[in-house]
Amino acid sequence: MIPERSRKFLQALLILFVVSGCAAPVQAPPTSLDSTVALDLYSTSTPTPFQPVANTPLPTPLPTKTPTPLPTSTPLPTYTPLPPTRMPAAETDQASYIFLVDLDYANHQLAIDETIQYPNQTGEQLNTLVLAVEPNRWMGVFRLNQLSVDGLETNDYSLVDGRMEVILANPLAVGDSLNLKLDYDLYLPWNGADQIFGYNNWQINVVDWYPFIVPHVSGTGWLLYEPASVGEHLVMDSVDFDVTILQSNGSTDLSIAANAPAELVGNGIRYRLSGARTFVFSASNGYVTSSATVGDVTVTSYYAEGNKKAGEAILNATVEAIGVFSDVYAPYPYKTLSIVETFYPDGMEYDGLFYLSRSFYDDFDGTLLNNLIMIGIHEAAHQWWFGLVGNDQAMEPWLDEALATYSERIFYERFSPGVDGVWWNFRVNDFQPTGKIDISIYQGGMFRPYTDAVYLRGAKFMENVRTRVGDEVFFAFIRDYATQMGHKIATADDFFRILYSHSSADISDIVATYFQNPH
Ligand SMILES: [Zn+2]
Repeated sequence: MIPERSRKFLQALLILFVVSGCAAPVQAPPTSLDSTVALDLYSTSTPTPFQPVANTPLPTPLPTKTPTPLPTSTPLPTYTPLPPTRMPAAETDQASYIFLVDLDYANHQLAIDETIQYPNQTGEQLNTLVLAVEPNRWMGVFRLNQLSVDGLETNDYSLVDGRMEVILANPLAVGDSLNLKLDYDLYLPWNGADQIFGYNNWQINVVDWYPFIVPHVSGTGWLLYEPASVGEHLVMDSVDFDVTILQSNGSTDLSIAANAPAELVGNGIRYRLSGARTFVFSASNGYVTSSATVGDVTVTSYYAEGNKKAGEAILNATVEAIGVFSDVYAPYPYKTLSIVETFYPDGMEYDGLFYLSRSFYDDFDGTLLNNLIMIGIHEAAHQWWFGLVGNDQAMEPWLDEALATYSERIFYERFSPGVDGVWWNFRVNDFQPTGKIDISIYQGGMFRPYTDAVYLRGAKFMENVRTRVGDEVFFAFIRDYATQMGHKIATADDFFRILYSHSSADISDIVATYFQNPH
């Protein structure tokens, strides 16, 4: 746990150094590019040198209001009933999360009924459950009204900062399931430049918003970490979601960007998402949208009025990226993908939805190699490296970040041969990156050394391995890794085990160059 003062200090650091983003936008490349990066798809390209990314000025915060408690005794609006609480036996052994969300957009408040059906797949009898409750890291944001286990209300739990521990009156045997029900209210915080979660005067971003049972690893225990000044700290199992959103004080022009197909049910919208790490949504009265399909996947770009050119360019590039990565890695794991403009000064990935900074849209120059497109491709790649193949983001962040960064290179070489060479200088070499790639977020220090090591050296490591083993073996390996570790939480040991199953080439010198630990 981090005391409030320390958390504030961390937040101050976040603001000062613009850290914590997932994609590390290029801030001040020392060289300009020639016009070969222009692309017909973005026909109005210009050879303008890349501009430093400036933080988008945030609108003046609305006056902070003391949250008005939602009337907990008032029943939720009528709605089309969800399926029986206990779902039919799942085809998989994944947990299920069922939500009924009453959204008051105007007051940025949500009243939530959450049911978790949790099968004990840990291999150990469980006497407690540990949940991540990220919204509880903010004062006055999360208010728990009632908790029950298998239908019995209980107060036998602790909730401190982002950690909830529920004591089970009856231990949960291996293979048995239980039903955890939470009734709570969320009063979204103002989201300044250092966070996505919350509201601003244009949108609400509802991410990392609900209590979830964290992964349990035999011999290690529950995987729940504190935030650091860089990187992401949450680790999530692959689970199923069934979310119904109702609007109180509903406005008819509210546009909701979620990470699953929308189904109209009665006076609500239902979203079902299977085999994903997290459910997220964003809403605004001001979104302009453009959509496209690739195979059976619908991609929708949500952007501000006036950003149509950029909003459609990242839509088109993402459609191309889904094609490339589906071919190289594994089929795209979801039915939809939403691209959402926001004020946060970076990109950030979730399953089936990613955010991109408004500054990327404002600075978009029509070329293929700029922060909007490059970071967008990076976040699209996270659908495979984070979404499909999970990892311990706190302790082994390179497993998703190095692969997402290297995916940018794969996209450019496949989609626009010739640009990938420019990409190496623009994205990697100009920064002369140093550092070992297998550091935790707590060893990361500040933004630049962390991203240099984990992202940029990570990409160089992948390239060195590819050169050593050859393209055929490399791409067979990466495909096998995606398949074997899909919907699981991969470790470095998994990565190297599968790599070595494809190649007997000696890469010990490469590993020694890039890793602090032997593999
Ligand atoms: Zn990333």
